[in-house]
Amino acid sequence: MSPATTGSARAARTLAEALALVLPADCAGCGAWDVAVCPACRELVSLTPVRSDGDAPMLSLPGDAGPLLPVWSLADYVGPVRGLVVAWKRTGRADVARALLERADRGARVWAHDPELALTGSGDVVVVPAPSGLRRRLRGALVTADLADAVAAGIAASGAVEPGRTVRSADLLRRSGGRRHQSGLGVRARARNRVGGVRVLAAPGPGAVVVLVDDVLTTGSTLAACARALVTSGTRVAGALVVAATPPPGRTPVARA
Ligand SMILES: [Zn+2]
Repeated sequence: MSPATTGSARAARTLAEALALVLPADCAGCGAWDVAVCPACRELVSLTPVRSDGDAPMLSLPGDAGPLLPVWSLADYVGPVRGLVVAWKRTGRADVARALLERADRGARVWAHDPELALTGSGDVVVVPAPSGLRRRLRGALVTADLADAVAAGIAASGAVEPGRTVRSADLLRRSGGRRHQSGLGVRARARNRVGGVRVLAAPGPGAVVVLVDDVLTTGSTLAACARALVTSGTRVAGALVVAATPPPGRTPVARA
């Protein structure tokens, strides 16, 4: 490559970087121009959470009386919603993060009043993010911690929690590698084994009730491990809220208002 070509390539890159600072990016969901998240894609993330634990097999094991914990989602993890979540998680687009966190905050205001979410208690309502892996933690890209802040703000603003009780977020869980080998274990034993995959750093306080948050619900194994670790340490877990849930194969995605 000649020095002249190198110079023009560098100039083009500098120009592209400068333009990226002044021009809004395209919609992360559908590619519409000049908007971070277009109104149509924004509306796909509903403000009325729907129960989704029935689609997550690891939350209801054979022989259990019912789901380990109720889980609600704001969207189906399909179509443009996948694009939004990927842009938020993997590429760290701050404009997309703002849009999704604003929807989560407003969705949590509705969710807090759901009769199936028992936030009653004498202590704090503590919003706990599903733990990020070490690589993400080192990069400082803690999307679920940001989500916990937004959901805590929404619950606090909802008016559903009695005056005098504090609503706060707390990053109480960590992943740990100490998991027994899975081979030779049945479904129930495998699920129980995952408790070893999550550890509780600190108790959330006397009388506290925890709600969990995560970005995407698939099999439910992460939330199940989080809930079991908290319950084993003596903490009540009322439920979980996720941004998007993977619909099972064959089910048409829910049309959400
Ligand atoms: Zn769009």
